[in-house]
Amino acid sequence: MKTVQTVEGPVSTDALGSVLMHEHICTSSMGVATHYPQLYAEDYEARIVRDLEEMRDNGISTVVDATPVCLGRDVRVLKRTSEQTGVNIVATTGWWGCEPPYVGPTTDEQWARCFADDIIKGCDGTDIKAGILKAAMDREGPTEWKVKVHHAVGLAQRETGAKIMLHTYCPTESPRFQLAALREVGVDMNSVSVGHIPETTDLDFVKWIYDQGVWLGMDRLPIVLLPGSYAVATQTRIKFIKTLLDAGMGDRMLFSHDFMSVSTLYDNQPEEVQEEVRKQCPERFLFLKNHIFPQLAEMGVDPDLLWRMTIENPKRFFEA
Ligand SMILES: [Zn+2]
Repeated sequence: MKTVQTVEGPVSTDALGSVLMHEHICTSSMGVATHYPQLYAEDYEARIVRDLEEMRDNGISTVVDATPVCLGRDVRVLKRTSEQTGVNIVATTGWWGCEPPYVGPTTDEQWARCFADDIIKGCDGTDIKAGILKAAMDREGPTEWKVKVHHAVGLAQRETGAKIMLHTYCPTESPRFQLAALREVGVDMNSVSVGHIPETTDLDFVKWIYDQGVWLGMDRLPIVLLPGSYAVATQTRIKFIKTLLDAGMGDRMLFSHDFMSVSTLYDNQPEEVQEEVRKQCPERFLFLKNHIFPQLAEMGVDPDLLWRMTIENPKRFFEA
């Protein structure tokens, strides 16, 4: 029996059910949830429970919390809310942001040890284990730190067998550098999900990614933007998913929203900005099920097939 490590222990891949492969339960800066939860709105844990209950009541059984420690991971909150709601939560290790100040010169191997220990021993001084690895590269490209993170995540993957998810920025083709860095430490591409694919509409580039033998993270649906930012419109993203399905890439698609249940980033915005964010995704973690899939069905895609993809593709990814 193949299993996935969740915050409540290993769960059989047969029992994962419908999975959201890239969401955020609670995000902030490193250490905020564990040291200064006062920076969240007071009811933040109750709001997480409401979101998880809504997922559960709509057939979603498992969620990957794509939040490594530098994005404010709090595995204790993940475990408490998973216990309360019955939703499986997979916690993440690895690194998302810039190089932490004040650690001095570190090696790939030192960081690999940190990430592997999160998976083998437990996170943040608990016995709650991470179940997936994450590395990130954005517009900045392959800086020394970002390459180091990819090497460390790759080494931890080789040691533990846990899968890897990548935060990417496809408009500048960051996956080319990211996959190269992972290959340098011997990672099998079948263990890698390349996330944020809907940030691009470049079919040739996505075909190149697909042909590397990786998985396609179909997240950022919808894209939630603070005022003043810009990205590919949600409607364009939906049409592009149809194009990718027609091109035969559905067998590797891992769907999700990349939505945040609670975040100090939103909780501390002025009320009108919070209202704007709420308007952009009133369906929250049901946007795929209630909005994206029905629109794809109108374009001729079998809705049952789409739902099955949220069950069977994650299972195959975790078993790969
Ligand atoms: Zn994310």
